[in-house]
Amino acid sequence: MNQRSRLMTRVLCSCFAALLLVLASAAPAWAQYALPPLPYPAEALEPAIDATTMTIHHDRHHAAYVANLNGQIKANPQLAKLSLDDLQGQISRFPLAVRNNGGGHWNHTQFWAVMAPAGEGGAPSPELLAAIEASFGSLETMQTRFSQAAAARFGSGWAWLIRTEDGGLAVTSTANQDNPLMDLPEIERGTPLLGLDVWEHAYYLNYQNRRPDYITAWWDLVNWNEVNRRYAAAAA
Ligand code: MN
Repeated sequence: MNQRSRLMTRVLCSCFAALLLVLASAAPAWAQYALPPLPYPAEALEPAIDATTMTIHHDRHHAAYVANLNGQIKANPQLAKLSLDDLQGQISRFPLAVRNNGGGHWNHTQFWAVMAPAGEGGAPSPELLAAIEASFGSLETMQTRFSQAAAARFGSGWAWLIRTEDGGLAVTSTANQDNPLMDLPEIERGTPLLGLDVWEHAYYLNYQNRRPDYITAWWDLVNWNEVNRRYAAAAA
């Protein structure tokens, strides 16, 4: 490459960088919510959840909830003043598209966080275990009730372990992308500690109609360290 073409290359690169800057600053101010990266490689949860399912679930499904939620900000400008957490508790003020996509963003953000590669998720803390035993009798009973709630959810939705306002723990289930933080009459409300996605997009490639097998395999992926952290924060 001669000196002149090197110079041309540098000029072109500078122009391209300037163009990128202009484009970035011209992005709409309401593009506020962001897709968090997976906290582990897509294949890290195999064999319980395969890499293709994880990639499609995160890069397409979760990304679509974020994009659609951002698309609602212009029509619902009060959204721009709310954190994703705070939005859940005021969801009744908003149209269904905000409920579906705002719930979808919150639910999936917690879903990636409460999973870890098998063997790396730790165990329930003494405090969490005591609370589970007080409310359910044993960890196994809680897991059985949770798995039943996940299997029995008709159509698409989530199963949850929550801390209720009285300080006890409960297992509940929500439809679609609803969650226990939402101020809706059909919701059993509480602070989610652990939520499992039972939409078919979460398991169908590997398990087809065998949702119970997905639920059983999923318990090996629970990131108890994160569940412990959520319980401690909720109980504080
Ligand atoms: Mn999902």
